[in-house]
Amino acid sequence: MDRRAIFLTSMAKLPPASLRLAIDRDALVHNWRALDRLSGPASAGAAVKADCYGLGVKSCVPALLEAGARHFFVAHWREVPAVACHVPAGRISVLHGPMNDLDVAFARQTGAVPTINSLSQAQRWLEAGGGPCDLMVDTGINRLGISPSEAGDPAIGQLEIRLLMSHLACADEDSEMNLRQQRAFREIVAQIPHRHASLANSAGIALGADYCFDVTRPGLSLFGGVPRHELANEIRQVARPEAAIVQLRQLAAGDQVGYNATFTASGPMRVGVVSLGYADGLLCSWARHGGYLLAGEARLPILGKVSMDMVVVDLAEAPQIREGDWVAVPYALCHAAQHSGLSQYEMLTVLGQRLKSD
Ligand SMILES: *Cc1c(COP(=O)(O)O)cnc(C)c1O
Repeated sequence: MDRRAIFLTSMAKLPPASLRLAIDRDALVHNWRALDRLSGPASAGAAVKADCYGLGVKSCVPALLEAGARHFFVAHWREVPAVACHVPAGRISVLHGPMNDLDVAFARQTGAVPTINSLSQAQRWLEAGGGPCDLMVDTGINRLGISPSEAGDPAIGQLEIRLLMSHLACADEDSEMNLRQQRAFREIVAQIPHRHASLANSAGIALGADYCFDVTRPGLSLFGGVPRHELANEIRQVARPEAAIVQLRQLAAGDQVGYNATFTASGPMRVGVVSLGYADGLLCSWARHGGYLLAGEARLPILGKVSMDMVVVDLAEAPQIREGDWVAVPYALCHAAQHSGLSQYEMLTVLGQRLKSD
């Protein structure tokens, strides 16, 4: 907070939020342990990039540590400080790698571990003095990583490789590419000296022991995502966005709701205005795909369009509900992805800042 904001909150107590993101810490611990167990002899790390997929490093990383996670993965160097509040920097791997000398300087000063993704990154790291690093080898996704043909390069031979990695492109499908990538990675593992090898993301863990090597890198499934049916009974929901009803309204037949008046009441109905909108991550597609909110078990269908800060729901199934009561977004990710038209990854990462401001 800047000085003016601190001044204001010292003058007046900040009123309570009318929306929040409930994080089920026990479910998070359960999910890491389930993924670690499913990794067989390999140990599970934790991909905590993008602020723990949008759920917040502050609430998630301590739980993952308590569960037993030891390897943490972020994408950007600027993600290191938040994670390093909880974890020794030497256990944080930075997947984008050292793109310039300032990245290298930051790595050397903090001890965060660079993932080397190219021969030029390898040279940059070696010129600065080298030391423990991770190496990404591309086996078909064509995103980051040296190509297998570069494995014999002298610069790669000089690296002190802690984690030798590759990344699966199609682990959430039954694609022949999975086996092809696994075989290609096995050849790399035999060729490049390293301490530990790592291939599988969440979905990769479900592909079985042949994919797990020494360390696995689950992200999505830690936070409740189910990328393959094998994980359906193992993974629990972690995130639940909740919001208060800020106003009740009574509609008469013919009354319309929201921008562009896309909903028209066919008879009298009681509706509620909920303090949650697309700025918070309840994207407009929720309304188009038959979306609803929940009051306990009762379904509250979304009426009309989602606004930036509000959405209107039908309260027919929850006659007892009052202004100020809280409702939840059904956020079991597999199911919610269908209702929103988003991927399970997007479901998590779109959650807005206002949900997390408490
Ligand atoms: C994001 C990421 C992961 C985690 O993937 P999930 O599908 O979320 O489990 C693992 N490895 C790398 C290199 C990643 O970028």
